[in-house]
Amino acid sequence: MSVGVIATAHDFRRACQEARRDGELALVPTMGYLHAGHQSLIQAAAQRAPAVAVTIFVNPTQFGPAEDLSRYPRDIEGDLRKCEEAGATFVFVPRGPEEIYPAGFQTYVEPGPLAMPLCGEKRPGHFRGVCTVVAKLFALSRADCAFFGEKDYQQLAVIRRMTADLNLGVEVIGRPIVRESDGLALSSRNAYLSREERLHATALWKALEAARAAFKAGETRGAALEELARQKLADDGLRIDYAEVRDPVELQRASRVDAQSRLFLAAFLGKTRLIDNGAVGEA
Ligand code: AMP
Repeated sequence: MSVGVIATAHDFRRACQEARRDGELALVPTMGYLHAGHQSLIQAAAQRAPAVAVTIFVNPTQFGPAEDLSRYPRDIEGDLRKCEEAGATFVFVPRGPEEIYPAGFQTYVEPGPLAMPLCGEKRPGHFRGVCTVVAKLFALSRADCAFFGEKDYQQLAVIRRMTADLNLGVEVIGRPIVRESDGLALSSRNAYLSREERLHATALWKALEAARAAFKAGETRGAALEELARQKLADDGLRIDYAEVRDPVELQRASRVDAQSRLFLAAFLGKTRLIDNGAVGEA
């Protein structure tokens, strides 16, 4: 395997410094258990910059006490292979959480209103943890640009805002959601699904498609589109966390929707929480 693997924050900073001497450096932060969605980010990064740093870190500060931190799936060998295949230059795999949060750590990045609704409301403290780790990765790498998936659309919006607000000087680039052939958005958490649950997991895609069809047929009431989506999720036995139509920039509730308005979905299948989203006007 020729992709370089880095275990300490000190060495990561050094490797990034060196890479930046020869041109731009692109960063792709992940929590590992990589799939084609992550690989699409690495590929886009490799198209943009001669050096691509991938990070693999299951960030404890973005998990709530009752969430899946300890059982989050891991496969470092497979991940390194996928990083190399997609065009990563080196991969930072902190040897432990203390590499990122050493003893005495006490400073966090607190996001604003964009982080309040949706996953922010359902997962208190989640975006504070995300912002903190991403700010640290930006500071360590001083990357020119960083790639994030629209799969986590609110996260992308919150990171864009943080980067502007704190003058972090990184170009934040969003990329489209990569899906299975039946519409399910790729996610590391799909590995939790039983065979039976996997069949029902397409409900999120069906909900999105139903809302899109209704919008195309002239429905512009947000509440009506949300109700349709909820019905689709319930039909497959999913427990709804949220199903909301919001504008794509401020993430405000939209009463009258336009083609760019997005439907945001989160639902449980058994213990597994799945999210998805998309513009209602998309074909
Ligand atoms: P994660 O490892 O889940 O923290 O995700 C790391 C990055 O990959 C985030 O920017 C995600 O939005 C992105 N990502 C995850 N799943 C997908 C997908 N299906 N398509 C595109 N990007 C994705």
